This record gives sequence, C-alpha cells and structure tokens, in this order.
Amino acid sequence: MKKYDGKKIVVMSQAYTVHEVVPEDEHNWARVIYIDKKVELNKTMPEDNKSVALLHEVIHIINETTGHKMTEGHVDAISYGLIDVMKNSPWLKEIF
Ligand SMILES: [Zn+2]
Repeated sequence: MKKYDGKKIVVMSQAYTVHEVVPEDEHNWARVIYIDKKVELNKTMPEDNKSVALLHEVIHIINETTGHKMTEGHVDAISYGLIDVMKNSPWLKEIF
C-alpha cells in the first residue's frame, strides 16, 4: 500500500493531492503546485524524510494562504519543531 501517493491532505480548507514523483532536480525533496492543488514528494528520498518534507510543504501552504512572509528557515524550524512534539507526545493524536 502506498503511504503517500494519491492521498488527500486538507490545508486551510483546501484539498491537495500528494504525488510521489521523480523530479527533474533529484535534490528537490518536495514542492507545492498551487494551481493544481498538489504536493509533489520526491519518491527517491528516504522514507523518513518524506514525512518531514510533507509537513514542510504544509507549512508553506499555510504561510502562502495566510499571506505571511516566513523564510525557509522559519518553515524548517516550525516543521521540525512540530514533528518533535508529535513524535514525543503521541497522546496528542487523540485530541485532534
Ligand atoms: Zn521550503
């Protein structure tokens, strides 16, 4: 079963579809294509990096949708910070 490919993710009330692709630039982990409402994940990256990349792109969508001007560093800090909270506080899944 595919873990990411074809899954829907709703961000700020907008549904995006996740696609695992082999990008032209193999160093590009992920990107959002807003016009098509899709998030592309590099299928060649290690599985552990895919969740980080997906959350990173979700933060980008929130940033873009709300008109904030977060830097790449801000997006990284929040995505890694949230992953750390979720991994170390699994009970949170029960309240959201
Ligand atoms: Zn980014």
